[in-house]
Amino acid sequence: MAYEAIWMKDPEKLNKFELYKMDKDGLDIIRDIVEKYAKEGFASIPEAEFGLFKWAGVYQQKPNVGHFMMRVRIPGGILSSAQARELAAIGRDYGRGLIDVTTRQAIQYHWLEIEHMPDIFRRLESVGMSSFEACGDCPRTIVGNPLAGIDPHELFDTTALTEELEGHFLANRDFSNLPRKYKMSISSNIYNSSNAEIQCLAFTPASKVIDGAEVLGFHVSVGGGLSAKPHLGKQLDMFVRQEEMLKVAIGVTTIFRDYGYREKRHYARLKFLVAEWGVEKFQEKLIELIGPMPACGEDRTIGWNAAYFDGVHPQKQAGLNYVGLNVPVGRTNSDEFEQLADLADRYGDGKLRTTITQNLILTGVPDDKVEELLQAPVLQRLTPNPNQFMSRAVSCTGNEFCNLAIVETKERARRVAQYLDENVRLDEPIRIHFIGCPNSCGQKHVADIGLQGSLIKTPEGMVDAFDIAVGGTLGPGAKYNTALKGRVKGDEVADRLAELIHFYKGSRLTDESFHDF
Ligand code: SF4
Repeated sequence: MAYEAIWMKDPEKLNKFELYKMDKDGLDIIRDIVEKYAKEGFASIPEAEFGLFKWAGVYQQKPNVGHFMMRVRIPGGILSSAQARELAAIGRDYGRGLIDVTTRQAIQYHWLEIEHMPDIFRRLESVGMSSFEACGDCPRTIVGNPLAGIDPHELFDTTALTEELEGHFLANRDFSNLPRKYKMSISSNIYNSSNAEIQCLAFTPASKVIDGAEVLGFHVSVGGGLSAKPHLGKQLDMFVRQEEMLKVAIGVTTIFRDYGYREKRHYARLKFLVAEWGVEKFQEKLIELIGPMPACGEDRTIGWNAAYFDGVHPQKQAGLNYVGLNVPVGRTNSDEFEQLADLADRYGDGKLRTTITQNLILTGVPDDKVEELLQAPVLQRLTPNPNQFMSRAVSCTGNEFCNLAIVETKERARRVAQYLDENVRLDEPIRIHFIGCPNSCGQKHVADIGLQGSLIKTPEGMVDAFDIAVGGTLGPGAKYNTALKGRVKGDEVADRLAELIHFYKGSRLTDESFHDF
């Protein structure tokens, strides 16, 4: 271990998994997978080791009989066509062609086997990609503005800064043993396109006049997070110049590593430390580590676009466009991915971008090529003009593959969105998110309508059901949604949501939106 670990001085205050991590750094599992388990097979893996597989970006897939899910990091969501092609090929070779886009701009495979891992790691590395630390108690995929560099609504291009963060934290053993998962975002988009409030550490757009000149940089919020006890990130009184961003990120992450709670896993996220210390104490400790920083400048976030980009839109480069595509509930496949990579090369700038709403964007398309691009067969399903409810439906993995899930989510979310599109007319988009358990990978709390899987007792036995919460929004006036009373059976969700939306439509006041209702 490359630093003096403060928490190790009091091992009685550590949970069981912490003791395991003390003996073996999570990153060591990558070597063991390659050199041992992939050769000796699934049966050779001791049960206790599976907890560390997350540091390789790998989870066991339900029902734990030899298949795995894997997440691949896409920092800031920017992907070259060569990378997209390799992702498609890996998915086809090992993952039955299935590719999910996640709410951290990563992609997720299913159906992998332990013997596949060395080749997958090698092939990802060959195109500059990695699955390492996409899961686990470490810095997860760094979320960013998917339009970085081309965005008419960004203060400045954050691409290089995202790469700097990724380069510093990825597989860095100084930060590979954090108390729990740790989520960072960096964006200068003035419509909060990376959902800053839900991140452990978020850099958001700001400016400040220093020595008579306007400097563009960031404000910082810490301690956001979802799950059973959701917290909104809290802003520090600090203006961060772009060249000081990494220093601040290292400082915040060091505080989490050294002072974050390691006694109970459900109380180990940074949000609990920030809530208990308060932002003043947190800031004092940070200044102690990194030195003085200027006070806040002007906050430049002016709204929230909810990270939706569907349709054809002009880039900041004159004559070029980005085309936001809907990936229904985030599920696509190798064939589609490969076709998009071809379109990116033929019509665009050779790039694809992933969004935290599980969608994709093609970029750099000249005005005179847009119409021809829109005729591409793959854009009939992955359309830039999706139906209203399908366009705003998000779902976690659910019990099709996830061991923690209580109910099925993804296919249900797709069916519900389709039903609403066929039966409900509304003049504004309603964001509907499904999650299969309280962990909230589908970010239920920020949705207009969030559905959390549960069970309900009926005369026929326990059946799938959902708790419903309404009115989540981020950006100025951010608030998580509020739970409604009662629980709805899974097969009644579509009808109940249609009734709820009709009620809203009939009762709303002029200029009232769903989260005001
Ligand atoms: Fe699994 Fe729960 Fe996350 Fe859904 S929210 S993917 S069920 S852990």
